Amino acid sequence: MASREYNIVVLGAGGVGKSAVTVQFVQGIFLNSYDPTIEDSYRRQMDVDGRSCTLEILDTAGVEQFTAMRELYIKNGQGFLLVYSVTDRSSLQELIKLREQVCRIKDNQHVPIVLVGNKADLGHARTVSFQEAKNLAHNWGTSSFYETSARTAAHIDDVFADIVRQIQKRESAA
Ligand code: GDP
Ligand code: MG
Repeated sequence: MASREYNIVVLGAGGVGKSAVTVQFVQGIFLNSYDPTIEDSYRRQMDVDGRSCTLEILDTAGVEQFTAMRELYIKNGQGFLLVYSVTDRSSLQELIKLREQVCRIKDNQHVPIVLVGNKADLGHARTVSFQEAKNLAHNWGTSSFYETSARTAAHIDDVFADIVRQIQKRESAA
């Protein structure tokens, strides 16, 4: 049977590790440096609950301006990874606005979203607690929250499997 495609968009402030998370998932390597202005899409096949899925992942750059193009890829996106860094409090704050934009553009308050606290390996530099981010996810009506590390690959696959399951669930409910 043909593998179904899932359109996933990775959003968040600059420097939180959107590209590193994406490339760790797709290529299994950790990027120490990546051009922060590059926006690119990646594909990877993954089995989720025994079903073959093809994930088409857009790694975005530059949340500052909400351009027409940005609106378009949010319209086309089926699931969204909202990424902050556990070492950067303002990057979590930024996601509150970002989620509102996504819900407005999708005209839906229940868009498939996973909250991702990246750089969990940098424990000594942590400024955002697990509980605090979990509470934010709870306010959004979701338990889909993971702390990840693109460096160690911790919980990276979990994030992508979760978003696929959310998209599948939405579709079977429709
Ligand atoms: P983006 O602007 O959100 O795409 O961020 P990048 O993926 O370019 O990452 C910004 C910087 O943070 C780079 O130097 C990465 O190597 C580093 N980085 C990304 N993820 C992690 C992580 O999980 N742990 C650590 N220690 N560094 C990370
Ligand atoms: Mg990037």
